[in-house]
Amino acid sequence: MIIGNGNWIGSITAGSGLVRVRYAPSPTGSPHVGNIRTALFNWLFARHHGGRFILRIEDTDAARKIEGAEEEIMESLRWLGLDWDEGPVVGGDFGPYRQSERLSIYQDMARRLAEEDKAYYCYCSTERLAEMRAQQAKEKRPPGYDRRCRELPPSQRPAGIPPLVRYKMPVEGKTTFHDLIRGDVTFDNAVLDDFVILKSDGYPTYHLANVVDDYLMEITHVMRADEWIPSTPRHLLLYEACGWRPPLFVHLPIILGPDRAKLSKRHGATSLAAYRDQGYLPEAMLNFLALLGWSLDDKTEVLTKEDIVRHFSLERVGKTAAIFSLEKLDWMNGLYIRHLGAEDLRDRLMPFLDKGLPPEAPRPLSPGYVLAIASLVQERLKKLSDVVELTDFFFVDDLSYDVSLLLGKSLKRDLASQALELSIQRLKPMAVFDAHSLEETLRPLAADLGLKTGAFFGLLRAAVTGRAVTPPLFESMALLGRERVMDRLEQALGRVKAILGLTG
Ligand code: GLU
Ligand code: ZN
Repeated sequence: MIIGNGNWIGSITAGSGLVRVRYAPSPTGSPHVGNIRTALFNWLFARHHGGRFILRIEDTDAARKIEGAEEEIMESLRWLGLDWDEGPVVGGDFGPYRQSERLSIYQDMARRLAEEDKAYYCYCSTERLAEMRAQQAKEKRPPGYDRRCRELPPSQRPAGIPPLVRYKMPVEGKTTFHDLIRGDVTFDNAVLDDFVILKSDGYPTYHLANVVDDYLMEITHVMRADEWIPSTPRHLLLYEACGWRPPLFVHLPIILGPDRAKLSKRHGATSLAAYRDQGYLPEAMLNFLALLGWSLDDKTEVLTKEDIVRHFSLERVGKTAAIFSLEKLDWMNGLYIRHLGAEDLRDRLMPFLDKGLPPEAPRPLSPGYVLAIASLVQERLKKLSDVVELTDFFFVDDLSYDVSLLLGKSLKRDLASQALELSIQRLKPMAVFDAHSLEETLRPLAADLGLKTGAFFGLLRAAVTGRAVTPPLFESMALLGRERVMDRLEQALGRVKAILGLTG
């Protein structure tokens, strides 16, 4: 049975064979990684099957709506490369794709359900409902509407009070839905209350809007996080009340931290945008997120987007919790960074350097210089943002560091001073200032000075970079150039001498 005769009522066409899936975020902030995993799985499923991926904005909860969040959702999808076939900006035949622009559709449906006695008007005040809930909590009873208005005859409807509309839940029986991953899931109808489908301000609840839109947009598979499982029997009953064939349901496995606790901030559960801003590559992020619940063969970790699209299937989506490990993400990101071409890496590092380097570093940064620096650090980056700390000494004139960095743990002051002096002396006549000649000139000095190579190089590293951890020393010196290296060695010598002088 198909209810209604409005021109928006479609026919049941989910059988056309074309996969149609949707990502239906509420614009309540910048989407978190767990939420984006849902978008990704829907997108992969659509692309694998040559179907349609639809973006629908579920913005009917005005209180939770955040200005700009819709843009952030779209920006996150774009950054990962998840293009949508229908939705805001791109349009489509089933729009509008923003629920706030579809209110009359939900209102019509709620009215129709009420006329057919599958739903009813409730006039209870907010105060009464709050009191009822408090009482239930006190008596340790499950929360739920007490159905006072369920059999209210139209003649007794109070005037002047805008009602809300509740679904008339069957009081007995069971509702079972088949989940493509979990199999049959059954709920006792008795545990479900007469939930609201339309609020008194004319806005639908999530349940009504979600069901109506999934039907009207001809969604074939509803794929979402498992936290929505308790909502699914309600949705099923609504489909039945409307006389519609429901879509197929897929609830994705929960995501936990490595300690198997609910994923939280401390595990790295933050917005996708925060990952982008720290310098994770979208291709690494996509690979990592795809493995949160799906796998090719339980062992292959590194897969391109094309590989994943080609192989993605619900059969390989697990029931058990997916573990979100930041350590693994860092490893994977480093791996992707190491595989970037030199110029690609340079181009991706540029904005991080531009933003992260101190103001005295001359802008615009030289693309050729950054290219050379990028190749020196490529092996060492876990995140693009690491580049700033690793390479800032290439860009600024004055290094600020504590003299203790020069001396390390054990170097004697007079020996340090001697080592710097000797280095300066040997470097001065060097004809070619390249990494190879630098190493040939400097390496033998350690023995001459009676120093361990590590301690000597540590001193030089501190002197020319002001840092303890840097790209390879001689390559860095070559790139800095003779003038700056000599200048920094002199400065370091001055610092060591200053404290020598102080303490005699
Ligand atoms: N608007 C819901 C959300 O924010 C959609 C849930 C669903 O996919 O049904 O996740
Ligand atoms: Zn009521």
